Amino acid sequence: SQTNVWDKVDQYITERLIQNDAILEKVLSTNQKAGLPAYDVSPTQGKFLNLLIQMQRSSRILEIGTLGGYSTIWMARALPTEGKIVTLELDSHHAQVAAGNLCLAEVQDKVELRVGDALEQLAQMSNEGVEPFDFIFIDADKPNNPYYLKWALHFSRPGTVIIGDNVIREGEVINENSQDPRVQGVRAFYDLLADENRIEATAIQTVGSKGYDGFVFGFVTC
Ligand code: SAM
Repeated sequence: SQTNVWDKVDQYITERLIQNDAILEKVLSTNQKAGLPAYDVSPTQGKFLNLLIQMQRSSRILEIGTLGGYSTIWMARALPTEGKIVTLELDSHHAQVAAGNLCLAEVQDKVELRVGDALEQLAQMSNEGVEPFDFIFIDADKPNNPYYLKWALHFSRPGTVIIGDNVIREGEVINENSQDPRVQGVRAFYDLLADENRIEATAIQTVGSKGYDGFVFGFVTC
């Protein structure tokens, strides 16, 4: 089947271009044993985030949706020594597993893992006067995507890169009558991007081991 080919091609790419990594493999097996859903980015996508961060020379990253910290580790590894990631996670079990994984990968000193509802955490961070971020990865509950985009802009400066995951949803994104709140959240996210003149954006459809989906790429201009 088509999905089978996508999966095999992802394996082919991974075997050639992504170094075997015992730590990341251990992270995925730990997540599975702990009962976490396999919603992490794929290895090819994790490396893509890592390269974008290196290309942009980001030193401050915000991640909304940690899960077991798989994407967090990919991103943390791209940071300079003094770089930092703030990552937000609602589920305390996910956060606990992530904390262990971050230590295993020896990136815990670069990561601030904040546990609680992301919208509450973001409001609290604003009160704390947290500085803008260079790179923001939105990957939590999709119905809240429009609110996450508003907060992402709040924590941006000209030149900040904003990435949103799962914005194609096997093509369901074009179904305006969808009853799925995740699809409606993603549609509202596009509408907001279209109306927002502080950000230039595009979206790329992807296929691979995680099926048919895609990313939004935004660049904050002013
Ligand atoms: N970025 C992760 C990776 O690639 O390894 C995957 C994140 S997973 C798609 C989404 C995560 O967002 C889940 O762990 C979920 O518990 C968390 N989440 C859901 N609703 C949230 C909320 N309101 N605030 C913070 N995190 C939330």
